[in-house]
Amino acid sequence: MNRNERERFSSFVSQRIEMGETEWYLSPDLVRSSLGNFNKSPVIPEPKSAAPSVSDAQESACEESSFGNGFLTAQKSFEDLEKAVCGCMRCALGKTRTNFVFGDGNPDAGIMFIGEAPGADEDAQGVPFVGRAGQLLTRMIEAMKLRREDVYIGNILKCRPPNNRDPKPEEIEMCEPILLRQIEIIRPKVICALGRISGQTLLRTKSNLGSLRGKIHDYHGVKFIVTYHPAALLRNPHWKKPAWEDLKLVRREYDGLEL
Ligand code: URA
Repeated sequence: MNRNERERFSSFVSQRIEMGETEWYLSPDLVRSSLGNFNKSPVIPEPKSAAPSVSDAQESACEESSFGNGFLTAQKSFEDLEKAVCGCMRCALGKTRTNFVFGDGNPDAGIMFIGEAPGADEDAQGVPFVGRAGQLLTRMIEAMKLRREDVYIGNILKCRPPNNRDPKPEEIEMCEPILLRQIEIIRPKVICALGRISGQTLLRTKSNLGSLRGKIHDYHGVKFIVTYHPAALLRNPHWKKPAWEDLKLVRREYDGLEL
């Protein structure tokens, strides 16, 4: 490692500490990406020739996002944070996305739902959970006697993985700090992880969904409950009943309301 690389790596480690992470493992991919992407100016997206799309408007509103030391914690409001990160090119998904999907809902919410990554509809519209699974999520929230605007909805990854494949570890490494900063700003009382991948990824476990459900976990000091992904409920409606038990638990932990 030369001096420049050492400095970049040291900023990377400082940022992880600052984000509250007390342990992590170093994989060759993580070292490579921290040296390659960290503190670098973002790759400027290819100019698009057609009339401005939603994504063109979004990109032009974005500042450079080289997550240097203290960069994310310096973003005090949700608007600043979104503006600062929405041009992110720290992983390869930056090149294939149509829109960066920051999140949706109330930044003062007491409940936060976290999915895996945007799908095709979300990528096209720049809003999480707007496709069929998203419409079911909206109905689930309403069944909890809340409105979609009362909660906050986000994803681990902010950009769509091609063909909706599972997030790669290096993509999670690059993107999770944004989620952590969102959680720091929102300070929800309860987080509800949508689906096995979301639960396993955030809790750093390989336990199956069955053993993650029905328990109150801790994610960076916030109560964390795992339930089925709405897309799984569309495929298998038999899971709606146990999912409802999870949502009742979320509501109970949020404000004590028994549904
Ligand atoms: N699935 C997710 O995990 N997130 C979305 O935003 C949409 C579908």
